[in-house]
This record gives sequence, structure tokens and C-alpha cells, in this order.
Amino acid sequence: MEPVSEAFPLRDTVIRVDLSAIAENMANIRHLVGPNVAVAAAVKANGYGHGALAIAPTLLESGASMLAVASLGEALELRDQLPDCPILVMGLVPDTCLSLAAARRITLTIDSLRQARLLNDAAKKLGRPALIHIKIDTGFHRIGFPCNEEGLEELSGLRELPWLVTEGIFSHLALLDDASNRIQYEQFLWILGRLEEIGFSFRYRHLADSIALVDYPEYRMDMVRAGALIYGLKGFHKGFVSVRQALTFETKICHITSVKKGEGVSYDYTWRAPEDTRIGTLPFGYADGYPRNLRGKGVVSIRGVRCPIVGVLCMDQCMVDLHDVPDAEIGDTAVIYGDGSDAAPDIQEISTLAGTNKNEIVARLTARPQRIYY
Ligand SMILES: *Cc1c(COP(=O)(O)O)cnc(C)c1O
Repeated sequence: MEPVSEAFPLRDTVIRVDLSAIAENMANIRHLVGPNVAVAAAVKANGYGHGALAIAPTLLESGASMLAVASLGEALELRDQLPDCPILVMGLVPDTCLSLAAARRITLTIDSLRQARLLNDAAKKLGRPALIHIKIDTGFHRIGFPCNEEGLEELSGLRELPWLVTEGIFSHLALLDDASNRIQYEQFLWILGRLEEIGFSFRYRHLADSIALVDYPEYRMDMVRAGALIYGLKGFHKGFVSVRQALTFETKICHITSVKKGEGVSYDYTWRAPEDTRIGTLPFGYADGYPRNLRGKGVVSIRGVRCPIVGVLCMDQCMVDLHDVPDAEIGDTAVIYGDGSDAAPDIQEISTLAGTNKNEIVARLTARPQRIYY
């Protein structure tokens, strides 16, 4: 039996990932921040849909010092393949998972003395200190020790936990505007100063995500956390770094139907042919992670021509109007989204049409489409 491979995909709907784009983007970010700033590569949500396991080695070879994920499950998957790489979980993990995390040398984010004590106990049992990054809430109000005297009081308790190594401390910007970012930054500096006064020191103090690391060089501190940017998804406004989109989502026409003027297509016949035309069926749907609300708005590119998705998008298939590409045939490639070449929409355009952001478009890509790396 043939193995599932690049040469033998079991389905025509695939996600192509350009590893050289990922490598170049990472190297350009590395170059931008300079030698004194570490880069953590955010590969949560399966590497923003690109496939975390497959891209991690490329990121590490191109200058990432650390991989950052949201959950322990994501961290453990990477750990199985990368036994020595630093892996930071930026979210909180359940108490019941602390000893597992410590045993697998996963760096955890801590935002309460209560959980720090539990982790300290777990590390003591293992006989090996656990690395942590302290999260400070400077105003985002998601997670973090409060950035005030009470927070400081709680944090001072960490000094009595000898099995924890406070490698890092970080916060997260709301990115409302310059003034509000500045307030958060100053809050962070305030608590850092107070903690250093009472004997804490941190290898990594970090605040900036992709947008902040480009737009606010002064907030890069010891490390930046780059996500969107390594995939070539740009969000910056003031600064600049050269990056290009690494992902192309594509499929092939699997069926063509001729329909007469007035005939309906898909559930509820929400679309009816305004004139005689040909309908191409594509084997992708919302279960692959394409937004269902793009019906009536989404387009794909076939032979360099934009073809509208017509009728309701199904779970596994959808239909496009081939009116403007009379020579289209079964087996023709349809680019669902790519880097904007060949008339295909790019991820920015898809996210605007879907009323969301670029990160959500790629993070929602499911495991079903095979990833092909080149
Ligand atoms: C995901 C994440 C990032 C990376 O965000 P981008 O905007 O994609 O760069 C940075 N910091 C934290 C805490 C995150 O959860």
C-alpha cells in the first residue's frame, strides 16, 4: 500500500507551507531585534495552522531561542520530538498537571502563589527545579499577578520556594494606542523595579508580541514573543520588517455540473443561477476550517480567474461559479487562499470578508487538510 505522502495525498485539499518563508521571516525578525534580544516563536494552535511539529526545527535553526504555546498538550507534543528545546506554556495549566509538566521540563507561566507552591512541591518530589515565567497583569485583565502592592506581597512569597527557578517575567499589551501601551509598560517597569529590589532577577523580561516588537522597539526588553509575523502575517503600522506569507490553501475541482438559469445550488437554494453556467464542486468545507460565513463573499482562484463561492458552504464541499473560466476542467487547481499572487485572495482579504482577524483564519484550519512542506 502506498503511504500517505506528498506524492500521494489522499485528498486534493491541502495546505502548502513554504518553509523557506518561515526561515526567512524568523531570520528577519532576529536581525531586526538584534543580538541582545531573544525571540520566542509562538507555535500555539498547531503553529497557527501551519503545523507546529513540522515548522519548529526550522524556527529553531533560524534563530528562535524558545517555543511558546498556549497549553500543556501543545507543549508535550513538541517535547516528544524536541527533547532539549525550551518550551514555554503562556497560559495556565490545571493543578493536576503540574507534576507532569515539571517531569517533561516544560516552562510554566505562574500567576498565583497558590499554584507556585504546588509546582514547587512537584519539583521537589522529582528532585529537579522547575522553570517558571511570572505573568503580570498590567491592565489586559486576562491572567497575571495584579500589578500592585498586593501582587508584590504575593510574589514575595515565591522567594521561599527553592525548587522554582524564575527564569522570566512577562506581561501582555492591549495595543489600544501609544498612551495606553506606555501606561502598561510603566506599570511593568514599576513592578520589575520593586521585585529586583527584593532580590529577584530575571533572564527574560518580555512584553512584546508581533505588532509591538516592530512598532515599539523600546518594549523589546530581553525577549519578544513573535507569532503572526513568523507566518508572514503583518499587523504592524509604524515600523517595518520584511516577511512573506508562508501558507497556501488549495484544492482541485472534483466535479462540474451545468446548470440552467434559475436553478438553485446547495442547501435551501440560497443561490440561483442568474444565467446558464457551469458549477465547479471543490472538496473543502467548513470542517477544514474555512469560514462558513463566507458564502456569497468568498472567492477562489482557478486558472488565475476569481470564481465566487455560490450557495451555502457545506461541511466538506462547496460550489463555485465557473462562468468566467469556460475552459476550467476537473482536476484544475483552485487556490482557496494564498499569498495574493495568481488572483487568489490573501489571508488579509479572507479575514476582512469573514469579519475577523488573520490569526483566526489560520488558527481555525483543522487537522483534516494534509500539510505539505516545501
Ligand atoms: C499568541 C501570543 C503571542 C504572539 O502573538 P502574535 O500577535 O501572533 O505575535 C504573544 N504573547 C502571548 C501571551 C500570546 O498568547
